[in-house]
Order: sequence, then structure tokens, then C-alpha cells
Amino acid sequence: MKPIRMVDLQGQYLKIKQEVDAEIQKVIDNTAFINGPAVKEFQADLEQYLDIKHVIPCANGTDALQCAMMALGLKSGDEVITTSFTFIATAEVIALLGLTPVVVDVLPDTFCIDPKAVEKAITPKTKAIVPVHLFGQCADMEEIMNIAKKHNLFVIEDNAQAIGATYTFKDGTKKKSGTIGDIGCTSFFPSKNLGCFGDGGAIFTNDDALNEMLLCIVNHGMKVRYYHDYIGVNSRLDSIQAAVLKIKLKYLDEYNAARQAAAEYYRKGFAQCPKLKTPETASFTDHVFHQYTLVTNDLNRNSLQTFLQERNIPAMIYYPVSLHKQKAYQDPRYKEGDFPVTEALCDTVISLPMHTELDQEQQDYIIESVLKFANM
Ligand SMILES: *Cc1c(COP(=O)(O)O)cnc(C)c1O
Repeated sequence: MKPIRMVDLQGQYLKIKQEVDAEIQKVIDNTAFINGPAVKEFQADLEQYLDIKHVIPCANGTDALQCAMMALGLKSGDEVITTSFTFIATAEVIALLGLTPVVVDVLPDTFCIDPKAVEKAITPKTKAIVPVHLFGQCADMEEIMNIAKKHNLFVIEDNAQAIGATYTFKDGTKKKSGTIGDIGCTSFFPSKNLGCFGDGGAIFTNDDALNEMLLCIVNHGMKVRYYHDYIGVNSRLDSIQAAVLKIKLKYLDEYNAARQAAAEYYRKGFAQCPKLKTPETASFTDHVFHQYTLVTNDLNRNSLQTFLQERNIPAMIYYPVSLHKQKAYQDPRYKEGDFPVTEALCDTVISLPMHTELDQEQQDYIIESVLKFANM
């Protein structure tokens, strides 16, 4: 059996090595390392794939979120509502810009932000909502967009974990995740569903004015070279990363289908085990399984992790600590017990290896090992 990894980037690369190597070589040959043709080509390909007017490439997913908030003109003291159960970057940029993060709980079955909790958290200072499409499925965007419209708020989608997922509205209209709110943000960190060979990110919008603003912000706030209309940042997707992404984008649907097949295999394997809750997908979205995350009932999650480690099976806890309990984000407004769903998830979730290269032998071994522990 091949060694089991949380993510098998090597196996994935070897299958497309020739194509990727040739594309990287092209960049090296033309030496247009910054803003070369590969960047424009990938940008256009991604716009077409997502069916969105504008993709603004940038240096990473965290920058994408930060630039989105800068482009919307959010100011110190403005409140931004986001989820208590996410990777820290989402809240980090809110805090970094001097905005006030307002945290709300998630839904127990999908782990995505609870729209009812969002609505309750709105105050006259609220300016934006940042739903996170956690682990690969979309948050309830139709509800969130309705709430945003009613209260005149911006919506920034954190799509770092769900690129390629599709949201279906009640009238049957379908849109790609990240293209529904005012701005969508994604990350091309190597282990993401569409990952490059270093850091990378992108911002999506259908709004021409926001596109202009974002192009400026990611480039030191300048429209005309050496004339700075705004205070911006330096956030670029380099040409070598764009070359890799251009090739991998062609396989994204295939990659997501492989993740879905692996998830289905896990689901069947664990179906008869009452101590494990397999991931559920909301009716309005598909799930591209950035992570495959079990919720454990009546079994010690940390001992399960150790047990698996001893059998050379990596398993990770995403995420062990709720936002409001993080040392850097201590806030007198929040206390233990305020976000019961998130707090329970932090104690009971465990994510199993999930990637495009998992084979049946590996999955059988993982399933057998998890069940063995559950039945001990
Ligand atoms: C990965 C991730 C980010 C940040 O992306 P980077 O490219 O690592 O900066 C932001 N939000 C979520 C939910 C993520 O998973």
C-alpha cells in the first residue's frame, strides 16, 4: 500500500508532470516572472470557468480577503459578521484593518454560518457579512443575500475551501461558489482544491467599479504607474504559479469528482457506525470535500487520532479552538458557551485523509482502522 497522506500533492503532480513542467519552462524562458502572459491566461480561464466578469489574481487567500474589505471602503469601527468556526485568516483581516469582527455560530450539520444568527447579530454599525464555504460546501447564500439586501450590507464570500462547488437557488438558477456575493475570495495554497506550487489567491467580482478598485489596491493603489490614488498593498500572483494553475484548472472538476467519490466511499464504510456522524450536504449546494470531517459521538476523538497515527494514518483536527476562545481574539463581548455548536464541534470533529489520489486499498485500511477503534 502507498503511504497514506492527508494530501497527496506528489501523486497528483506526477500525472500532469509533463504539461506542468512545460508551462513552467515557458515562464522561465520568457522571464516574465511578474504579470507575464500566464497570469492573464489563467485569469481569463478562471473567469470563464466561474462565469464571472472579473477575476483579480493576488498573492494568497488572506490578501484576497483583506483587499476585498479595503475595496468596499470599510472603516475602523465598522462591524463585520463572520463565523466562529473557520480558519483564522477570515477574522484576522477584519481585526487587522481595525474593523470589529462580530462572531456568530454555525449550523450543526453543515458547519457553515447560521443565517438566523447572522440576522440577530446585525446592528447599525454592521457593514458586511463574510460567510465561509467551509470544508467544501456553500453556506446558505440565498438566505444570506436576502438578509444583506434587507439591511444594505456587503457580502464577501470566503471561498478558499470550496472552489468549483455549485450553489442552486430556489428558482433553479445555479452559480459557482464565490460568485454570488459582492466579492468572492479564494486561496491557491498547495493543499486547496485548486492549489499551486507556493502561495496564490484570487478575488472575484461582477462589479466593474469594484474590479477597478481591486486592481488598484493589489498594486500599491496605483492606476497610472507611480501615481498612487489609494493606499494599497503589494499582492501579486506570480507567473510560475499562474502557469501551474492554468494547467490544474483544466482538471479541477475531475479533482473534485475524485474527492466526492472518496467521500462516498467513506460514507458507505461508516454508515453502520452509530458513534460517527459522516458529513451532510445542504440541499442547495454540492460538496467538493476540501476536508472529510467526521463528528464523533461517545468516543474520544483525541485517542482516535493517536490510534490512527500509530497505524500511519494522518488525521487532523480542523479546528480545535473556536475563534472567540483564541488568545489573540479575546473579547469581553464573548465568553465560554456563547457559540455552543462551534464549541461542541471543536471538541468532536476529526478530518480524515482526503485528496484526489486516495485509492480503495488505502480507504479500506483507514475505514477498518477507524471502525476498529470505534468498536474497541
Ligand atoms: C486557506 C484559507 C484562507 C487563507 O488562504 P491563504 O492563501 O493561506 O492566505 C482563508 N480562509 C479559509 C477558510 C481558508 O481555508
